[in-house]
Amino acid sequence: MPTAPGFVSIVGAGPGPLDLLTLRALERLRRAEVVIHDRLIGADILAELPAQALRYDVGKARGRHTLPQSEIHALMVRHARAGRRVVRLKGGDPFIFGRGGEEMQALLAAAVPFEIVPGVSAAQGCGAAAGIPLTQRELASQCVFLPGHLADGDGRYDWAMLARPGQTLVFYMGVERLARIAERLIAHGLPPETPAALVLDGSRPTQTVLARPLQALACHAPPYGPRPGLLIIGPTVALSPHYQTNAAASAEGAEREHA
Ligand code: SAH
Repeated sequence: MPTAPGFVSIVGAGPGPLDLLTLRALERLRRAEVVIHDRLIGADILAELPAQALRYDVGKARGRHTLPQSEIHALMVRHARAGRRVVRLKGGDPFIFGRGGEEMQALLAAAVPFEIVPGVSAAQGCGAAAGIPLTQRELASQCVFLPGHLADGDGRYDWAMLARPGQTLVFYMGVERLARIAERLIAHGLPPETPAALVLDGSRPTQTVLARPLQALACHAPPYGPRPGLLIIGPTVALSPHYQTNAAASAEGAEREHA
């Protein structure tokens, strides 16, 4: 029985809203005895936990790790070995830039039974909420998920491959590196007018979408703030109603300037 005591469920909480949790995630939350959760998990999701559940906020604020990864592993193992139903609750999907793989390895090494409950990842949540298909026949036949913070060194990405047409690039943790990412892609041949979008607080009531040609977006990006943001680059961004509104507004502005 997958959720017997002495068991860890590594659960994806989705991109924010309660109703983007899976039914399985919700069921695991409601039966949890111990919850070890990240910073980005909303209060309404945590409100689904039993009142008596033991809670650990191991969330990592930028540059301030409240709990090292090894201690998160130890915490899961300790509570599971004491016979408890443990939920390790993570934003989005646990296996996409979430270190869920390392947590699974730790549980395997400790011979603790576990399961992985998938979640809606930020790419899917933001794509849907902003009207940006991640793939579309004729426009983008592949989609690449990248960790934006690795854009700094030159050797980490195959920029020439990323600059090729016909794909969607999704940068997690990439908002503050937008200028660098745009500069590298354009240097490797991506047209500067390739449609691009910044989706902040994607799928949440506070969502903001900034959609423009890549070079213009890089010039007009807002200063980096605390809201989670995703950078999406590729031809399908032009299908988004947000992009079309922005393009219409820019064209009007240009007309006024020339009048
Ligand atoms: N496992 C998570 C990603 C963790 S990395 C997932 O599958 O979604 C954290 C990054 O995810 C943030 O820096 C941001 O780039 C992105 N992110 C998470 N939630 C988001 C949201 N609601 N809107 C925009 N970006 C989000």
